[in-house]
Amino acid sequence: MLSERAKKIKPSPTLAIDSRAKAMKAAGVDVISFGVGEPDFDTPDYIKEAAARAMRDGFTKYTAVGGIDALKDVVIDKFRADNGLDYRREEIIVSSGAKHSLYNIAQAIYGPGDEVIIPSPYWVSYPDQVILNDAVPVFVKTFAADSFMVRPEALRQAITPKTKALILNSPSNPTGLAYDRKALEGIAELALRHKFYIISDEIYEKLVYDGTEHISIASLGKEVRDLTIVVNGLSKSHAMTGWRIGYTAGPAAIIKAMTNIQSQSTSNPNSIAQKAAVAALSGPQDFIVTMRAEFDRRRRYLVDALNEIEGISCLMPTGAFYAFPNASKLYGRKAGDRIIASSEDLALYLLEDAKVALVHGSAFGDDEYIRLSYATSLEDIKRGVERIKGAVAALGR
Ligand SMILES: *Cc1c(COP(=O)(O)O)cnc(C)c1O
Repeated sequence: MLSERAKKIKPSPTLAIDSRAKAMKAAGVDVISFGVGEPDFDTPDYIKEAAARAMRDGFTKYTAVGGIDALKDVVIDKFRADNGLDYRREEIIVSSGAKHSLYNIAQAIYGPGDEVIIPSPYWVSYPDQVILNDAVPVFVKTFAADSFMVRPEALRQAITPKTKALILNSPSNPTGLAYDRKALEGIAELALRHKFYIISDEIYEKLVYDGTEHISIASLGKEVRDLTIVVNGLSKSHAMTGWRIGYTAGPAAIIKAMTNIQSQSTSNPNSIAQKAAVAALSGPQDFIVTMRAEFDRRRRYLVDALNEIEGISCLMPTGAFYAFPNASKLYGRKAGDRIIASSEDLALYLLEDAKVALVHGSAFGDDEYIRLSYATSLEDIKRGVERIKGAVAALGR
């Protein structure tokens, strides 16, 4: 018999769509996928080379649970250089991907009945990680009109004596929008007044466009730094999703608890990947510039093309690699004798009819939207948008 915990949890819906699209592809169907949540670039060679060297050198044993000092030190350098933040080794832990970092945090700080505020739309794993740790997700809706930044009044109303933390994700998956300084200051002020943690997922820090400045909320002042737990990783910045390296900076007591939890669950992150991560963070960063320029080109093409489609409207994202258009004007239209009534109906229709994979907004807590990843070639983006346009035009009223 399964535990109550296991029964409460569902598989990641973004991975579900992806596997469905992959199955169609495997069956020979020409599916164009806007579903993926990972860069389509290969990990740079100098990083792979560092991993190969680590293997040759026999760096293939257990390491310190929270990561080797050499990696913690380049993480510390990164925070200083990129975010103006000073951390000590005791305030850093390396885990098996940023998702694992977030899970360790959940294990370390949530208790039964604790409330965790999650602005919606949100990244799919946040609510489930809260629920898995006996806490309660409290959703605060955000709106395109505010560039999907949480409204201070709405946040204030969600705060109770049970509020333990707020999960912030800027730049955001799925919206592609980043918080500005003023909005972050508003959040910091509330966190300080009501004494809750800010869990700041900054995995898309390096992917910002149009001169957007990434600001870590922890950098706004000493007091807010002490209430903030920053999560970052190599998956998106260095095209290293498969290597599974993420890291956390935060109060030493929380980092210590996370390390204990990690020591009893996964032990150290992969030793070879840690060496690769040292190379990634300390080596040349021009790969990121090239990748970002390519994402930028695709972003502008995709969003402009989506806005040409009748019934679809999309904000120009300033970060990450997602477009998040509102498609709700299409709801109520007919595909044959089926009525498209939701984002999931639309995503399914587009997959089956247009052979285009994307993710329904309800997976992220907002049914008015759909998410398209542009971590795929410009050529495929062009073909995919044409297909969507055709399929939308074919819908009956
Ligand atoms: C991809 C992603 C992560 C997880 O990254 P890993 O390091 O591969 O675990 C975390 N947060 C958001 C918002 C993401 O999109």
